[in-house]
Amino acid sequence: MSKTIAINAGSSSLKWQLYQMPEETVIAKGLIERIGLPESVSTVSFDGDKHVTVKNIHNHTEAVAILMNDLKNLNIIAHFSEITGTGHRVVAGGELFKASVLITNEVAKQIEDLSDLAPLHNPANVAGIYAFCALLPEATHVAVFDTAFHATMPAVAYRYPMPNDYYDKYAVRKYGAHGTSHMYVAQKAADYLGKAPEDLKLITAHIGNGVSLTAIDGGQSVDTSMGFTPLAGVMMGTRTGELDASIIPYIMAKTGITDVAEVIDIFNKKSGLAGVSEMSSDMRDIISARDAGDEKASLAFDMFVNRIQKFIGQYLAVLNGADALIFTAGIGENSDVVRQAVVDGLSWFGLDIDESKNVFGADGIISTPEAKVKVLVIPTDEELVIARDVEKFKAQA
Ligand code: AMP
Repeated sequence: MSKTIAINAGSSSLKWQLYQMPEETVIAKGLIERIGLPESVSTVSFDGDKHVTVKNIHNHTEAVAILMNDLKNLNIIAHFSEITGTGHRVVAGGELFKASVLITNEVAKQIEDLSDLAPLHNPANVAGIYAFCALLPEATHVAVFDTAFHATMPAVAYRYPMPNDYYDKYAVRKYGAHGTSHMYVAQKAADYLGKAPEDLKLITAHIGNGVSLTAIDGGQSVDTSMGFTPLAGVMMGTRTGELDASIIPYIMAKTGITDVAEVIDIFNKKSGLAGVSEMSSDMRDIISARDAGDEKASLAFDMFVNRIQKFIGQYLAVLNGADALIFTAGIGENSDVVRQAVVDGLSWFGLDIDESKNVFGADGIISTPEAKVKVLVIPTDEELVIARDVEKFKAQA
């Protein structure tokens, strides 16, 4: 029996979940927000209670120290040494990391060097890694990459049609993201469908604030909608998804913006549902406003659904048909409205939802018995995948 902590460090946040392993029981979980900003907030959920503290936390190193002390002060652990494993979600693994790895100094440096591919995330991931390695020198530390599941994509999917040099010299290619989530729900879907993953063609739709769809053939990712960075693919909460690159110089010329980074920032943080609705990036707000007759919210909703449908269409072509479509993440798991809207336009392909099953809290198959392509809702659990990977390395130690 031992404890493992799964860590998801964002640019200004640190999400964690403490497990008893190998039982896979969640002992406690929490979130530290506003790291580096005044009045950071640390929330610990334990034993049915929520403990919230507000104080200034300047960086991820401090955040990790505060989290570890909270675990002791709340009697969740008696000694730091009870935590024998830490697993870190790393957003970009580039072409270097095709599976989870044991963290060494060299690995941490390599993750840092890949920051160009995820400038907001990789530096935060590394800061979390260094802080845990310093506080828990005896523990097994593992990096789990968001991109690893997509390492099986063929060149035809991951290469961009541009001069070869950009790939050969600078590794410009599609890497994808949300890999642990796509992998987890695909395996669960196989269980629900009573088949081996090798015998299935699946389209997984991770629809949260970030959105990505993946085509999975025989358990392997063969194409995915995110690209070189997580800006690509489907329209998202605040991100554009794919668009014509010529728009960038055109906007710069028209608006007088001189720094291209500013345009990319707008495409990442002020676009998507938020940009079109001009009111929120949150799907709950969009649906309420649309229902109240707000035209911009209505257009934002329709564009969002349209982009998801088009990627499903692409992946039905890539896979030459599919056994099932799986919805997951904040919107995919919780919004019967979005699921219905997406599937409604795809009846020709053999998708059909049973309205009595498409309800809030659905978990499992929600399609009609006649549907050629089954539709499932499966809550994702990236933390569990991370904790399981740490266990594998602990067993080898
Ligand atoms: P995630 O990034 O996976 O945490 O997902 C966040 C998104 O899920 C936000 O856009 C939320 O509005 C959305 N969401 C959560 N609950 C619901 C719900 N009941 N109906 C619609 N959207 C939801």
